[in-house]
Amino acid sequence: MAKLYFSYAAMNAGKSTILLQASHNYQERGMQTLLYTSSLYAEMDKRSITSRIGVTAPAELYDSQLDLFEQVSKRLEKGPLHCIFVDEAQFLTREQVWQLARIADRLGLPVMCYGLRTDFQGNLFAGSSELLAIADVLREVRTICECGSKATMVVRMDERGNVLTQGDQVAIGKDIYVSLCRKHWEEQTGRWPVAGANSPKFSFSNKEDTLTTTRKRTAG
Ligand SMILES: [Zn+2]
Repeated sequence: MAKLYFSYAAMNAGKSTILLQASHNYQERGMQTLLYTSSLYAEMDKRSITSRIGVTAPAELYDSQLDLFEQVSKRLEKGPLHCIFVDEAQFLTREQVWQLARIADRLGLPVMCYGLRTDFQGNLFAGSSELLAIADVLREVRTICECGSKATMVVRMDERGNVLTQGDQVAIGKDIYVSLCRKHWEEQTGRWPVAGANSPKFSFSNKEDTLTTTRKRTAG
């Protein structure tokens, strides 16, 4: 029985790298894969998935209107397929997650989804919520906070490094995202007072380091 998989993480955990490696493993064995990524990233990445270590592969784009079950069914008429990969799966609609479930259940193709669990305000994305509810296999991709603890949350910052707590869930632009553990996320978003106004952990200079690191990663 083919399964629906959801690998979730915070930002910069290397989800796209894992996706591309897994797809490559299929292709190395002569099997065909079909990759999807959100059209929200289309301008930046064109029709491809690019990981921050520089690996890239062509991908179909999906928007909220696309019927993934229908498109994959049609694609199967043209030739064999062995696995479907979906990057930025947090942007799927709930209905699209069900379409992916039907691809597994009724077309017999495993579907591997990769995405963020929560947004910068700590709320589940619709796609992630539905995947957490109905995926057969859940996997956490680990990344770490500056303190060394597991990072499960994401903060959004403006270009000057100010943490933003208001705004649209989907805002892909010049904002910067940094992964933090829950404790430091609460402190950075002002939900918990930081002991001593000048916490050494997140002094301004440390924040600058974070920004520099993040930019390098994005560029890479
Ligand atoms: Zn931390």
